[in-house]
Amino acid sequence: MHRAYRYRFYPTDAQAQQLARTFGCVRHVYNWALDLRSTAWSASKERVNYHETARRLALLKTDAEKSWLNDVSSVALQQSLRHLDKGLANFFAGRAKYPRFKSKRDNVQAASYMTNGFTLRDSRLTLAKHDAPLDVRWSRPLPADAKISSVTVTRDAANRYHVSILLDETVVPLPQSDRAVGVDMGLAHLAITSDGQKIDNPKHLARKLARIQRWQRKLARKREAAKAALGLEGKKVPKGTRIPRSNNAAKMSRRIAKIHAAVRDARRDHLHKVSTIIIRENQAVCVEDLAVTNMVKNRNLASAIQDAGWRELRSMLEYKAALYGRQFEVVSRWLPSSKRCSACGYTMESLPLSVREWTCPHCGTGHDRDINAAKNILAAGLAQLREHSTAGHAGMHACQAPKGAT
Ligand SMILES: [Zn+2]
Repeated sequence: MHRAYRYRFYPTDAQAQQLARTFGCVRHVYNWALDLRSTAWSASKERVNYHETARRLALLKTDAEKSWLNDVSSVALQQSLRHLDKGLANFFAGRAKYPRFKSKRDNVQAASYMTNGFTLRDSRLTLAKHDAPLDVRWSRPLPADAKISSVTVTRDAANRYHVSILLDETVVPLPQSDRAVGVDMGLAHLAITSDGQKIDNPKHLARKLARIQRWQRKLARKREAAKAALGLEGKKVPKGTRIPRSNNAAKMSRRIAKIHAAVRDARRDHLHKVSTIIIRENQAVCVEDLAVTNMVKNRNLASAIQDAGWRELRSMLEYKAALYGRQFEVVSRWLPSSKRCSACGYTMESLPLSVREWTCPHCGTGHDRDINAAKNILAAGLAQLREHSTAGHAGMHACQAPKGAT
């Protein structure tokens, strides 16, 4: 099972320059090879494969005008050719769009290294053509016997650097637990478990969101003004038209990207802790189908963040369950999880969203709305698991870690 571990790092000025050179060369080589392969095909129906591009790259590097390509790691350049090859293969298999040219304006700049392009010893990660290790913040330990398959370095729109280390991991089942848990997505809380835990996004996110929203409104007004200056007031912008942006506006959108990134990171850290605890403590984890949780439509930024948080928590639970030999069960969408009494099964005719606590008229049990829903999800999930096992599937789902999962 492949799994990525992502860490922030802080390059020195010299390292940042070397990385900028590398990103530039990686982009250049990618675009050069994309052009080469596309042109060969459209002009003479000739298929240029990866090995041929690698051979021609070696020639290109001997060209005096392209000698700067030798200043960066050749491994990163080769990886760029491999990425293109994969992109084209995906296109021809009908899995993806045709690869597009990379731009220095793209939000994320990246370079990948196979194992011959870096060294990692005693937490010191040094890339090829770098004379010192990167200052990596090892926010969680790499598994001791980890088999590394590649390392990817990125710089995002907020000018932050991350290294993503891809590991080949074997499933390590945790000791059996006799506990199971249901997880419900809430409105007041991000998620609620059947054993009464209420999981929120970290509190400080709300304040940051308010700031982002204020700046985004300002930015939108600036953009409208720029459109009006082009005579496009209130109209759709035709394709290919660039709306000019002031330095101030560019600075503001960088600040917005920075806060967004900080919000994302803080949330991810938090959800990692929460999901690890849930998986460690329970043999089975049951969640509601995402289609149901789509009731939180993206009406505004706050609910979009809530939605993203839920998706992230769910995907973490799913791949950690696979990694640690736990069961992960999704219950079907029509379950009246909120309105049914988890003690006796009586179903209320209606239960307005504003009602947070209620008492079952049939058996008299007092309920917290969300915990009751989580208990129903657990019961339904366990019933489904029993069904699977009597049907001979043993109730286990082979799940893969989603790509890019950290
Ligand atoms: Zn009842």
